[in-house]
Amino acid sequence: AIEVRDLHKSFGALEVLSGIDFSVAYGEVVCVIGPSGSGKSTLLRCVNLLEEPTSGTVWVAGDEVTDPDVDIDRVRRGIGMVFQSFNLFPHLTALENLTLPQRRVLGRDKAEAARIGRDRLARVGLTDKEAVYPAKLSGGQQQRVAIARALAMDPQLMLFDEPTSALDPELVGDVLAVMRSLADEGMTMLVVTHEMSFAREVADRVVFMDGGVIVEEGPPEQVIDSPTHARTRSFLARVL
Ligand code: ATP
Ligand code: MG
Repeated sequence: AIEVRDLHKSFGALEVLSGIDFSVAYGEVVCVIGPSGSGKSTLLRCVNLLEEPTSGTVWVAGDEVTDPDVDIDRVRRGIGMVFQSFNLFPHLTALENLTLPQRRVLGRDKAEAARIGRDRLARVGLTDKEAVYPAKLSGGQQQRVAIARALAMDPQLMLFDEPTSALDPELVGDVLAVMRSLADEGMTMLVVTHEMSFAREVADRVVFMDGGVIVEEGPPEQVIDSPTHARTRSFLARVL
């Protein structure tokens, strides 16, 4: 579903990604962990071309997104993206937040968009909140609306960038539970997270990044519970 080859990204003189090779298969859940500034968000942003790679190749769902002739809007339609900040439209209700992009981007009619919107709100456990405005929702509920909004677009894969790190601790669990159920349903997911127990229990594969390279990757029981590299061990000693 995602294929990254020899990806480099520099901001001016600062090389943030220094030759990244990795892939995510359909149905796979890959968690990316690593210290602040290691390039995790930049990697995610290169996957949907929110950042333009300096060199290297990225394929998403069979399209080479680094091809200058690619129709990036079409590729992005297949990618659900959930950030740390929820970015909901404050003047729209939860349901309207889901229907607007379906109508604008996919051209769905009002009834169809509402039907799908209600289905996705139910999937994240927020059926009773459809008429509520974001300001009246908790952070965890807002993030679940953001996930539902991405799901309403029928994405082929989902990118998550620290979706729970802006939340109060007591709200994290509900969001992780939604992500876990998505994973159980077979969604292809690339997740940057500091939640080691989530990575351990849900990821098929964990990728540890440091200094713009992948230091170590493998099944969670290997990377999290018996890492082979000193850098991985010292990072885990700080976060576990
Ligand atoms: P965190 O865990 O704090 O979110 P991260 O691993 O996601 O960190 P990135 O956000 O990818 O790290 O940033 C990697 C490096 O690139 C940092 O040194 C950051 O300052 C730099 N960087 C990121 N975006 C830009 C930008 N648009 N312009 C210049 N430098 C940038
Ligand atoms: Mg980041």
